[in-house]
Amino acid sequence: MLVKRGYVVHHSSMPPLNFLPRIPGKPKRKGVDSGRRGEGLKEAISERVLIVGGGVGGVYTALNLIREGVDPRRITVVADEWPPYSRHRLPEALKCGYLGGLELGVAKELMDAGVNVVSPARAVSIDPASKEVTIQRVGKGEEEVSYDCLVVATGGKPFLPPIPGIGLRGVTTFYGLNDIKRLLSLRGGSAVVIGGGLVGVAAAISLRRRGLRVALIELKHSLLPQVIDPPLSEPLRKYLTDLEGIKLFLGSKVRKLLGHGRVTAVLTDSGAIGADAVVFATGVRPNSGLLLRAGASNVRGAITVDGWGRTSLVSTYALGDCALSKDYITGKVTYRPLGFVAAHYAKYVAKAIAGKASGEGTSGVVPTIYERLGEVRVYRLGLSASEARALGLSDAEAEVIRSGNNVWEAKVLAKGRVIGWELVAVGHEHVIPTATYLEQLLSPKS
Ligand SMILES: Cc1cc2nc3c(=O)[nH]c(=O)nc-3n(C[C@H](O)[C@H](O)[C@H](O)COP(=O)(O)OP(=O)(O)OC[C@H]3O[C@@H](n4cnc5c(N)ncnc54)[C@H](O)[C@@H]3O)c2cc1C
Repeated sequence: MLVKRGYVVHHSSMPPLNFLPRIPGKPKRKGVDSGRRGEGLKEAISERVLIVGGGVGGVYTALNLIREGVDPRRITVVADEWPPYSRHRLPEALKCGYLGGLELGVAKELMDAGVNVVSPARAVSIDPASKEVTIQRVGKGEEEVSYDCLVVATGGKPFLPPIPGIGLRGVTTFYGLNDIKRLLSLRGGSAVVIGGGLVGVAAAISLRRRGLRVALIELKHSLLPQVIDPPLSEPLRKYLTDLEGIKLFLGSKVRKLLGHGRVTAVLTDSGAIGADAVVFATGVRPNSGLLLRAGASNVRGAITVDGWGRTSLVSTYALGDCALSKDYITGKVTYRPLGFVAAHYAKYVAKAIAGKASGEGTSGVVPTIYERLGEVRVYRLGLSASEARALGLSDAEAEVIRSGNNVWEAKVLAKGRVIGWELVAVGHEHVIPTATYLEQLLSPKS
């Protein structure tokens, strides 16, 4: 039984999560205030908290700190861009040609509460011994900011594969506002999107709606390979080809970008595709240089944290796309650069800073994805079979339990238990399962 509702919710608003089965497998220091704010306050929690990065992880940490009783005037956010905006709305902004409405509402809440925002400014180094961060403000040179607790939420950076021709004009990533501004300046012509994940597919649809001819190249043989399993990506492939008019090249490898000064074509192992613009949507890497230079433990650049977001550096926390996180179902540590992971850890980091950490912290994050791609809705709760296999559940398989009436649904099984659910609906209103439905699906009998 599925319940349809006539409204759209974001991925993070899916129903109860923590009933998915799990497969087994600080000292406080009162500092001297810098004198810039909050002096003489009698609040219970008087740590000076310095947050680097004003994106999802940074601003939600600030919000949760206030909720946990930290005086907002003791919180400083150093952000190279402000106000913060929602990256997941960028495809919509491109489609509509309108950049208003991207701002995260929480920014105003923080400013009204008295949080000190230093922007545009970049943190350039951390000295863990003296608990100081050097920041650079435009036109003001360098200055030191001291902290009792430091939170690093510097996000990720788009990954660009080392392909000849990548420096040609007309080549862009799909990651920030500037990318969208560049793409909005295109007047017709053709675009090639490289990468068939959520970002690449959303970018392709938006470019198509702006009247460009669009081709999309994906190395794997199915779309959204990190999100849903191949049987469920088939209806999306058909929709993109037949209804959106996007030319798909699945299982194709990009060899080279061609052009003199400006890109004119993409050379793949199956031939050349003409292009006035090339958009790379080939994943994200941690933007963790600040913590790495300060000596923080990491795995391939992603910062290692415990269940409270604590790094290996004293009084220093990290979260979001610069850090690792824990998967709830397997208990394994993984790199998942997604907003709901940053928002999840923001709660734990805030509790720990507020002195409310007891036990091991978070049990991990349950992946919860809802995305609207044109007229296709994609949902996932828990693990896909391919992600489960990557996390060590080698017998994980997706079993299709419904295909008809433009709805495709699968459950993902491993070790005899349901560990995930996927649904793709074409042309339907928002489809959302009830908690009862999911509980039945996840019961041992299912
Ligand atoms: C197109 C697109 C669509 C997406 N859609 C979804 C989705 O539907 N669902 C989902 O869960 N996730 C989605 N994501 C991922 C999501 O946006 C990120 O996981 C999330 O923003 C991570 O939060 P963060 O705080 O770690 O990083 P960000 O939100 O990127 O914030 C980091 C901030 O830190 C700043 N910064 C970096 N270094 C410094 C420095 N030294 N000093 C000062 N500031 C600094 C950066 O400029 C940035 O503003 C999407 C991403 C993209 C690109």
